Amino acid sequence: MPLLVTGTIGIDTVHTPTAKAEEVSGGSCSYFAAAAAFHHKPIRIVGAVGGDWPNDHAALLESIDGLCLDGLERRSESKTFAWGGRYFDNMNQRETLFTELGVLEEAPPEVPASYSDSRFIFLANSHPSVQLDLLSKFPDRELAVADTMDLWINIARDELLTLFKEIDGLIINDAEAQQLTEISNPITAAKAIIEMGPGFVIVKKGEHGAVLVHNDAIAILPAYPLELTGVVDPTGAGDSFAGGFMGFLAASGRLDFSAMQTAMAWGTVTASFTLGSFGLDGLASTTREDLEARMFDFRRIARVN
Ligand code: AMP
Repeated sequence: MPLLVTGTIGIDTVHTPTAKAEEVSGGSCSYFAAAAAFHHKPIRIVGAVGGDWPNDHAALLESIDGLCLDGLERRSESKTFAWGGRYFDNMNQRETLFTELGVLEEAPPEVPASYSDSRFIFLANSHPSVQLDLLSKFPDRELAVADTMDLWINIARDELLTLFKEIDGLIINDAEAQQLTEISNPITAAKAIIEMGPGFVIVKKGEHGAVLVHNDAIAILPAYPLELTGVVDPTGAGDSFAGGFMGFLAASGRLDFSAMQTAMAWGTVTASFTLGSFGLDGLASTTREDLEARMFDFRRIARVN
């Protein structure tokens, strides 16, 4: 089941209460793809970078097994998307320090003809009109899921609402769900978002786990329990969660509620490896065996009977 992702490939600068990392490899598409590739191959990337994209960022992405980069456009005259953020003491909340859109202000990247049989589509966080443009190229898709962010809710709400009518699922965090709906309870907020179009909504709650609200039922899952000392940088954890979730679904070829519950657990465990270091390094240095060992642990920790 070919899985395609579009989103940002970015240069991140991250401040945490104890450290700062400059110009690390990030972007919603990069995190998603690196996480999804543990579960399914190939992961087809559609994105663009500028002439300033560092060679070591390119080498890192190219080193990840299972990524197809045929849809990655290198625009020598353009600037790569860049983002800076600062985390507060609990590492659960952050503020954006700057967003330089760069290539996102230009025409969306072309989709290679070889990608045309993609059936699972993930619209990682990006401008909603870029997400809509990509989706319009896949009328025969089986599953389209999107992510979004406070910036787009603020500056592109109309496009976002149009997007909601086209997608099957939305994955967002609790603050964004509240910003969209003005409802603080994640389940009530998710139901209000379902009224806007998607068939299911996953609301991520950081260290408090995630909730899936589906037309059929509701599921909850805790986060993988990490102590604060084990959290170096939460950036990209949401995208990594989505990568694990969609990667598992694409590999299993199943879309039923029970498969989504299992997929959420894989998303949670995959994301836990992003938290341990800056940038993509955490995922890039993790093996399938590491992932399975943590999943084994998580099944035991989250078990009810
Ligand atoms: P997450 O922590 O999962 O929300 O993802 C953070 C990643 O998304 C970072 O690597 C950023 O480069 C990227 N990012 C930050 N802001 C945006 C935005 N407005 N649109 C798309 N990607 C973004």
